[in-house]
Amino acid sequence: MNILFLGTSSGVPTRSRNVTAIALKDSKGSGWSLIDCGEGTQHQLLRVKLSVNALRAIFITHLHGDHCYGLPGLLASAAMSGRTKPLQLVAPKAVLDWFKATVELTQLHFSFEIEMHEVEQLNTLDIQGISVHPVLLSHRAPSYAYVFIKKEIKSVLNIAKLKQDRVPQGQVWGQLKKGENVVINGQEYKASDYAFMSDQSRKIVIAGDNDTPELLTEACKDAAVLVHESTYTKDVAEKVGPAVGHSYAEQVGRFAESVKLPHLILTHFSPRYKPSGYSSPSVDDIALEAKAYYSGELFLAEDFAEYALDKMNKLTSLE
Ligand SMILES: [Zn+2]
Ligand SMILES: [Zn+2]
Repeated sequence: MNILFLGTSSGVPTRSRNVTAIALKDSKGSGWSLIDCGEGTQHQLLRVKLSVNALRAIFITHLHGDHCYGLPGLLASAAMSGRTKPLQLVAPKAVLDWFKATVELTQLHFSFEIEMHEVEQLNTLDIQGISVHPVLLSHRAPSYAYVFIKKEIKSVLNIAKLKQDRVPQGQVWGQLKKGENVVINGQEYKASDYAFMSDQSRKIVIAGDNDTPELLTEACKDAAVLVHESTYTKDVAEKVGPAVGHSYAEQVGRFAESVKLPHLILTHFSPRYKPSGYSSPSVDDIALEAKAYYSGELFLAEDFAEYALDKMNKLTSLE
C-alpha cells in the first residue's frame, strides 16, 4: 500500500503546498482511494500517475472547506472524461447534503453512479479487499479518522529447511505450500514441517483535523502508520488558543510514542511554517519538536511525497 500526498497545507494553499488530499494506492494495479479533497485536488492529480477512472472511493474527514471544496470539480471532470465505474463516497451528512445541493443547483450530470455513505452511520466498508472504518475525533466540527486494514495471511515455505532436507523442488514444494503432505519413495514430507502461516496484514490510520490524538489509541493498536495533523508547534498553539481544535507537534509525538507507533507522518501545516531549510518558523521546527518526544520513524509530508508500506510493515519514502 502506498500513501501519496496531494496537499499538506492547513486552511489555505501556499506556493509549495495545496490544501488537504491524500491518495492511498494499491502497490500493484491502478486502484486507489482518496482521503479528503481540498480545492485544487484535481490540478494536483494532473502531476501524478493516478487516473480518476481508477478511483474507487473518496473519504472526507470533515466539513471544513480545505478538506472538501475540491469534490464537485474533481467529480465533474471525471464525468467529462467518461468514467462509468461506480464510486463510493463516504462523508459526514452535512458534506453529502452540500454536495447534492451543488450537483442539483449547477445541473451536474454524472456518467457513473455515486454510492453515498454517511460516515455517522457507517461501521465498515470493504474497498476491494481493504476494510475501512471511521473513528470520531475532536475538532471544531465533527471530524473522523479512517482506519484502513488489508488482511493478508499467507502460507510461506521454509526454504532453508526444504533445501537442507533435499525435498525435490517444483510441484512438491507447491503441494506443501498448499498444506498437502507428500510421499516420495516411501518418505513422507509433512506440510506442517515446511510451510507456516505468515501474517502480512497492514493497518494504516489517516486522521482528519483533531486536537486529541489519544482518541486514536485503540485505532493505532497494531497500526504500521499514522497520518496525523500537526498544524502548529507548541508555542504557536498556545498563542492561538485551544478553540481552533488542532494538534501541535509535541502532542502528536508524545501520543505516537505512548502507543509505540512505528511510523508517524505529520501533515496539515499552518501556512506560517516555511519549507524545510528556511529560517524559523519552518517545518523543521515541527520536526524537531516531534522528534524530542517520539523515537519511531518520523516523516513530514510534502506535496507529491509518496511512501510505500511493504508486507513486512516497513514504511519507506520513495524519492
Ligand atoms: Zn483543516
Ligand atoms: Zn478543520
